[in-house]
Amino acid sequence: MSRRWQAPRGTFDVLGEEAVARAHLEALARRVLESAGYRRIETPVFEHTELFARGVGESTDVVQKEMYTFAEEADGASYTLRPEGTAPVCRAYLEHGMFKQPAPVKLWYLSSFFRRERPQKGRYRQFWQVGIEAIGSDEPAVDAESILLLAELLEALGCRGVRLRLGSLGTPATRQLYRTELQAYLRAHADELAAEVVARIDLNPLRAFDAGDRGTRRVMSGAPRLLDRLADDDREHFATVCELLDEAGQAYTVDPTLVRGLDYYTRTVFEFTSDALGAQSGVGGGGRYDGLMEEIGGPPTPGIGWAAGVERMLMTATTVPAAEPPTDLFVAYASPALRAAAFRLAADARRAGQAATLELGGRSLKGQLRQADRAGARYVAILGDEGVALRDMETGDQRDVDMATVIHHITRPAL
Ligand code: AMP
Repeated sequence: MSRRWQAPRGTFDVLGEEAVARAHLEALARRVLESAGYRRIETPVFEHTELFARGVGESTDVVQKEMYTFAEEADGASYTLRPEGTAPVCRAYLEHGMFKQPAPVKLWYLSSFFRRERPQKGRYRQFWQVGIEAIGSDEPAVDAESILLLAELLEALGCRGVRLRLGSLGTPATRQLYRTELQAYLRAHADELAAEVVARIDLNPLRAFDAGDRGTRRVMSGAPRLLDRLADDDREHFATVCELLDEAGQAYTVDPTLVRGLDYYTRTVFEFTSDALGAQSGVGGGGRYDGLMEEIGGPPTPGIGWAAGVERMLMTATTVPAAEPPTDLFVAYASPALRAAAFRLAADARRAGQAATLELGGRSLKGQLRQADRAGARYVAILGDEGVALRDMETGDQRDVDMATVIHHITRPAL
């Protein structure tokens, strides 16, 4: 007997109500983002591996151990299934000379991404993200606007327990100085810190802010903070972003420990979480990446963007329609001789803009009517040897109508 296959670990099928919910999310995202001047972009599912190695950063978990990479035997090239959207969009921006367009160039996507992660609730190996990138302007208003757009999308979805954390990373040079300062501080307090924090002082001192043990937390409450070390123009930039969010009535917490590990991140970083999610509480996040474009071979070009997980958003959403799309007309027929006429009627109804379903399951007439009811059809046309009967499924009324007028009848509110 041959094997019955299942979807690979960490992947899933989208069907039924889940498909309806996703279509709803996509429609909302389009409305929210396109009203703010964002245009849709689709990039390939795979790119040259080097693009991610440079554009996401060699030292990140994603590049170190989560990428699905394969070799093209014909030309020896190495490709990788996209683990994120920013580097591909920036590649496309350069490739298509979008720098000739008025800045900022605003792009949005809804695509699937691939990371070899340990699967758990809210963490998959193929997942979907809605994301935006605004490229070519370093105005703080672009930062604030992009944050508000994600807030608006989450609000439109009715996502529960949403919180926004906000921070600024300054420049890579500021961060380097700060890192050295923090390392010195941690070493001076090494005997009060958890062993794993001490072990990471060289590699990743910032992780000390995430530690849960009491000793480390006490030490960290007195640790130097990157936000207090920002250069003047970066500090002003951050202050303006905060002012604009205040102006818009957007609640947030300034989190001096919010870090995104990539070297090219600059200035604003932010993350939306939901209390309604478990351990994987991140709904979406992003930041400014003024150093990225140079990293992938372009001229210095500022940019900012975010990505939000479709599955995570839907896990907390409350405005998602559960219903299947409605059926206006179900066409039933009493005998096989009437199949062609039924087929024609269903096709005509669709051409007239109605959602019409034809009996295709070889059911008895009684079975067809049951099926129409299950499908939630508003009307059923029953083709018999004597003519057509049209039944209003809401009222139960049934009347004989002329075949040519069926469509005309069902466009009316009632029989
Ligand atoms: P990131 O690109 O890592 O900043 O992730 C942005 C958002 O994408 C997160 O807040 C999650 O909502 C979602 N996300 C990231 N990785 C996964 C994953 N493996 N499975 C499901 N959602 C994810």
